[in-house]
Amino acid sequence: MSLRFHNTLTLRMEEFAPQDGKTVRMYTCGPTVWNYVHIGNLRTFASQDILRRWLRYRGWELRHAMNLTDVDDRIIQQAAEAGQTIYDYTAGYAAAFFEDTAKVRLEKPEIVCKATDHIGDMVDVIQQLEKNGCTYVSEGSVYFRITGFPEYGKLSHTRFEGNKAGARVDTDKYDKENARDFVLWKARKEGEHFWDSQLGAGRPGWHIECSAMAMKYLGETLDIHAGGVDLVFPHHENEIAQAEAASGKPFARFWLHTEHLMVEGQTMSKSLGNFYTLRDLLEKGHSPESLRYLLLSVPYRKQLNFTFDGLRSAATAIDRLRNFELRLHTARFDEGVDALMEERAAKAISQFEAALDDDLNTAEALGAVFEYVREVNTAMDAGGFRDGNRVGAGNLLAKFDAIFDVLRPTVAGNAISDDEIEKLSAERTQAKKAKNFARSDEIRNLLLAQGVVLEDTKEGVRWKRK
Ligand code: AMP
Ligand code: ZN
Repeated sequence: MSLRFHNTLTLRMEEFAPQDGKTVRMYTCGPTVWNYVHIGNLRTFASQDILRRWLRYRGWELRHAMNLTDVDDRIIQQAAEAGQTIYDYTAGYAAAFFEDTAKVRLEKPEIVCKATDHIGDMVDVIQQLEKNGCTYVSEGSVYFRITGFPEYGKLSHTRFEGNKAGARVDTDKYDKENARDFVLWKARKEGEHFWDSQLGAGRPGWHIECSAMAMKYLGETLDIHAGGVDLVFPHHENEIAQAEAASGKPFARFWLHTEHLMVEGQTMSKSLGNFYTLRDLLEKGHSPESLRYLLLSVPYRKQLNFTFDGLRSAATAIDRLRNFELRLHTARFDEGVDALMEERAAKAISQFEAALDDDLNTAEALGAVFEYVREVNTAMDAGGFRDGNRVGAGNLLAKFDAIFDVLRPTVAGNAISDDEIEKLSAERTQAKKAKNFARSDEIRNLLLAQGVVLEDTKEGVRWKRK
């Protein structure tokens, strides 16, 4: 089966390939760096991590850009309260974002771009929109006129004719011709951070940063644009309007949206006391890979209900897989290769691949792996699994972990050094020579727990980090 994604633009499942047949050009809306990311944000970013890994698994190269929103109303207000510049205020949260996402093993996009580094690019797009007759100025601010873009509403599948001019539907305190018109450039306000530009002194609206940076780094038509479901309207609708009205080309071929994470069935909010960051969970003693597993266990287009029971079950599920891996590496099996076991591994791999090809159905992919593990454990108990079947089973685990990335435990403090590994490996060889198998197995397990795998080859012992 071929790789298919659900496209919000068409509301259909569509076969995916990058337009140039080689490199996927993808843009995802990044965090607003005004605070620590919460586990809801992490759900969306984790689903994009799986998307990245699966696209690469399927042989495509990646050019993925993600923005950091480092100027907006909240940032300006919080920075002022903290007596800091917006740059100083956001730098710490941007660093914390990359610390947190690294802990849950999210790959860093090829391109990370900050809004404040791209004011000139945004001004260029706004000027192009001015030339194309899509803007007007009111009280020094520049607005996008949605009646100038007849396709407005095509992503959220909404018709907007009914909107009365002047009705207030958002919190922008600027005068607009039409309630749905949105600001491209906000005129300077006393005491607020501003830039001088040909549009006058002011700062960009939020939506324009994504259109401008996406087109700058990825070209006028992206292969994939992704974000959380709350961004469909108005943010992504506005991104489309700005980009397409400026370039005259389709902005993105595929739009992928991740459903929200809820906590115990409710929207997460500080006032309900059910608001969690990764840092909160680590303090309670949970591991980052438990959260990663939990976030990935529900397909991205379904709501995910976070519970602490669910988090504990995720830890148990990971343990089961790690125990299987340990058994595979350390147990002794009879010589030979069992043909049925080889077939079983091949079947699990094809089920795993078909599930992820089907709009990243992570639940089904995990199901295929667990069913395999259960059956193979039974076969191992009954002597049906042979020494030569280790490779096939290891291959499945490697494919699984290239995507889910939960087998390697997070080690507190510093990871074990190469020198220490060499020393332990030499000690194990000595122990084996002395027929002290208890000690040699103990060392192998100890290293495995640190994410280091030993392989006995004809040339001697080799080791690698997982
Ligand atoms: P923000 O930092 O608010 O711009 O959000 C960063 C990303 O997290 C966006 O893609 C949001 O759509 C997404 N997001 C926000 N809240 C949730 C949630 N409860 N569950 C899943 N994703 C969310
Ligand atoms: Zn965006």
